[in-house]
Amino acid sequence: MDGAIGPGGAGMNLEHIKTCVRCGLRYDWRRSSSASLKMTYCNHLCEAADLGFTIEALLHAEPEPEEAGTASG
Ligand SMILES: [Zn+2]
Repeated sequence: MDGAIGPGGAGMNLEHIKTCVRCGLRYDWRRSSSASLKMTYCNHLCEAADLGFTIEALLHAEPEPEEAGTASG
């Protein structure tokens, strides 16, 4: 039974390394503080800076109050 021969360096899993599209930093996406775009931005600051907002902000955003006073009919 032969063992698989491959490059060493166990422990560093490049599959989890992403490059932030905002600042170009290489990071482990699992450790990104970005809410919903962990695989795109290294942290929520880059996400917010690039988008102008965060997904979390959208999720928690309150709908604009409807302007009362208009009556139809
Ligand atoms: Zn970044």
